Amino acid sequence: MNDAIVIVGGGHAAAQLCSALAEAGQGARVHLVMEEGTLPYQRPPLSKSYLKDAAETLQLHRDAQWFATHGITLHQGDAAVAIDRAARQVTLASGQVLPYGQLVLATGTRARTLPGLPAPLQNVWTLRSMADAGGLRERLLERTGTLTVLGGGFIGLEVAATARKLGWEVQVFEAAPRLLSRSASPELSAAILQHQLALGTQVQLGAAVGQFELDGERLQALQAGGERHAVDLLLLGVGAVPETALAHAAGLEVGNGILVDAGMKTSDPNILAIGDCTAFEYEGRRVRLESVQNANDQAKVAAATLLGQGAAYRPVPWFWSEQGGLRLQMVGLWRDGLEPVRRPGANPASFSLFHYDGDALVAVESANAPMDHMFSRKLLEQGKYPTRAQAADPACALKSLA
Ligand SMILES: Cc1cc2nc3c(=O)[nH]c(=O)nc-3n(C[C@H](O)[C@H](O)[C@H](O)COP(=O)(O)OP(=O)(O)OC[C@H]3O[C@@H](n4cnc5c(N)ncnc54)[C@H](O)[C@@H]3O)c2cc1C
Repeated sequence: MNDAIVIVGGGHAAAQLCSALAEAGQGARVHLVMEEGTLPYQRPPLSKSYLKDAAETLQLHRDAQWFATHGITLHQGDAAVAIDRAARQVTLASGQVLPYGQLVLATGTRARTLPGLPAPLQNVWTLRSMADAGGLRERLLERTGTLTVLGGGFIGLEVAATARKLGWEVQVFEAAPRLLSRSASPELSAAILQHQLALGTQVQLGAAVGQFELDGERLQALQAGGERHAVDLLLLGVGAVPETALAHAAGLEVGNGILVDAGMKTSDPNILAIGDCTAFEYEGRRVRLESVQNANDQAKVAAATLLGQGAAYRPVPWFWSEQGGLRLQMVGLWRDGLEPVRRPGANPASFSLFHYDGDALVAVESANAPMDHMFSRKLLEQGKYPTRAQAADPACALKSLA
C-alpha cells in the first residue's frame, strides 16, 4: 500500500503540517506541492513591516536545509491541477503524477475581485502573496500620491496605516456602514475608525463603488459614494475566497470552503483539508476562518489524524492585527447580539471589550492590551468566565482568575 502523504499548498497550514509530521519522524513520506516558487513563508508581515522597508526579507517557516534533513520532497512552482480519487493520485502542472496514500489540501484563499474591474491593471493591487507584496512595496516606497483602498477589512486597514506612515494620502471606501463589520464589534469598529482618522486616513463608510474608468492598462477613476475619484494607486481589499477548485473538481463536498469534520477529513476519508480553505463545525454552525491560529491548529489535528492518533479540532479562535501603533488582539468569535463590557487599560488607547451571552463570555477584543488578551485567552480555553463586574474592573487581575 502507498503510504505517501501529499500536501497541496505551501502556506502556513502546510508548513505546520510538515513540522508536525517531521517531529513524528514521518518526513520521508511527505511530498509538498507548491504553486508558488518560494519555500513557505509568513504572510502577516506582508501587510505590515514588509511593506515599509525594501531591506525586509521574507520570513520563511523553515529553510531548504530543514526540509532536506527531514526527507520532505519539495515540488516548488508546480501547482496541483487534478486529483484522481479512484487511482489516488495527483497530477501537477508539469505533468508529474504523484500517487498518495493520504492527501491534504491546504490551498488557502485567493483575493476577491470586483465585477467590472478587469485584471490585471498596472495601478491596482490585491495582497495575498510575496509577489503581490513585492510589487506593492516598490510602488509605496515611491512615497508619492494617493492610495485608494477599497474595503475596510484587516488587510485594507493595515496597508492604509502603513501607507500613511510612508507619507501617502489615503482614502478608504467601505460599502458597509462600519469598518470590519463581519469580524469586529461595533464598539471596536468605532475605536478603529477614530484611530485611522487620527492617522490622517480618510474613510468613507456606506460607499458603494462602481463605474471604473480605464486608460489602457491603468485604472483612471472610479465612482464611490456617488462621486468620481481619480486613482493613482488602488488596493483591492474586499476579502478573499477559499481556493476550492481542485476539491470541487474532484467531487468533494464544498460549501463556503472545503467541508471537513473535526479530524480535518473531507467527504473522502483519504483526503484531508486544513487552513483558510476549510469550513468546519463551530458552536453549531459551519465557519471558515482566515487566521494563523486556525491554520496551525488544524495542521496539528490533521497530523494526528494522518498518524492514526485520533484528534478533534475544538478551537478557541484568536487573531491579531496591527495598524500604525494600534495592536488589536481578538479571542473567540464576536457575533451580533452579545453584550459588551468595557475594561479600561492604562491609557485611553488601551482597553478590552468583553462580550457576553448571558453569563457566558464568548469573545474578548483587546486594543493595546496584550495582558488582557493573554489571560482572557486562558480563561476561554479553560471555560472560566469572569463576572461582568470583574471584567470591567481594571484592578481585578484576570491572571488570578485563570
Ligand atoms: C497580507 C496578509 C496579512 C495577514 N495578517 C494576518 C495577521 O495579522 N494575523 C493572522 O492571524 N492572520 C493573518 N493573515 C491570514 C493568514 O496569513 C492566513 O490565515 C494563513 O496564511 C492561512 O494559511 P493557509 O496555509 O491556509 O493558506 P495560505 O497561507 O494562503 O497558503 C495557501 C498556499 O496554497 C497555494 N496553492 C493554492 N492552490 C494550489 C494548488 N492547486 N497547488 C499548489 N499550491 C496551491 C497558494 O499558492 C498558497 O501559497 C494575513 C494574510 C495576508 C494575506
